[in-house]
Amino acid sequence: MAHQITLIPGDGIGPEVAEATVRAVEATGAAIDWERVTAAPGELDEVFASLEVTRVGLKGPTATPIAGGHQSINVALRKKLGLYTNFRPVRMLPGLKTRFHDLPLNLAIFRENTEDLYSGLEHEVVPGVVESLKVITHNASMKIARSAFEWSRRESRRKVTAIHKANIMKLSDGLFLKCCREVASHYPQIQYTELIVDNACMQLVMRPEQFDVLVLPNLYGDIISDLAAGLVGGLGIVPGANIGDHHAVFEAVHGTAPDIAGKGLANPTALMQSAVLMLFHLGERDAAARLEQAIYQVYAENRHLTGDVGGKASTSEFTSAVIGHL
Ligand code: ATP
Repeated sequence: MAHQITLIPGDGIGPEVAEATVRAVEATGAAIDWERVTAAPGELDEVFASLEVTRVGLKGPTATPIAGGHQSINVALRKKLGLYTNFRPVRMLPGLKTRFHDLPLNLAIFRENTEDLYSGLEHEVVPGVVESLKVITHNASMKIARSAFEWSRRESRRKVTAIHKANIMKLSDGLFLKCCREVASHYPQIQYTELIVDNACMQLVMRPEQFDVLVLPNLYGDIISDLAAGLVGGLGIVPGANIGDHHAVFEAVHGTAPDIAGKGLANPTALMQSAVLMLFHLGERDAAARLEQAIYQVYAENRHLTGDVGGKASTSEFTSAVIGHL
């Protein structure tokens, strides 16, 4: 029976990379019925109704206005569906020349996805003074720590690093660390270390190969994800998965990239690799592995790459090259 999947093309380059990804997934032969829905600010009923049935979504980036305007659609989805794990595997692609291409980078980022400074609780105390509430709970911190360690155990990973600023935010980041330590104590075979976020940034740029699995509260996870994407060739590459107990929504790390939207220049690799994660999640292991290998082959050949990774190909030329290898 075909898998029903909610497809949210999104804004900016979203529809272009979503269309490319649908073409590639269809070429794997995996039986999928796409239910296309639009995510508009304040009008997410259709999205939630579809995900209620399908339980699995593939999503392009959605625009979030800066300093004002509507709440982020991503934040709304993650909170409402309890998608507490944001998983972002950051890997070097074969043949792609980056500053670090000699290093076998293979990081896994576990970003808490529902709270922290994304609580959206901000107010003006008096004119000229505003407060934003950083909410850290035992419950959400335990969940993300368990996700990170459980995945690491399954995948035989050797080290988990918790990233924090508990020297300054002693209570909130302190609670996050306490939870990570508690979970770590149940996985004696996995090395557990902690690093303050500013130092983590420096270490990631100077010696990224020392890292394996990272677990972070929401905001540090957002920032470190973009930094890590930069190590392996940029935002056009890195996939992501938002996972809860009942639903999963797969989406790239990148945003709407308005500078290149509508020009056929966007790199669909990040969403295609998100679709690889989705196919594994659906149990379509063969289709997932073949799509992943097809993407790797196009990179290894280095002839049909998009501009962001040093090539000249359009979104659709890259996609056809991937399909050619399926
Ligand atoms: P947001 O604020 O919406 O999360 P972001 O900070 O992740 O967005 P983006 O808009 O995704 O930022 O991307 C920053 C820049 O990276 C873009 O302007 C674009 O030049 C480049 N970029 C991002 N995604 C892609 C892609 N898929 N293909 C090519 N270039 C990309």
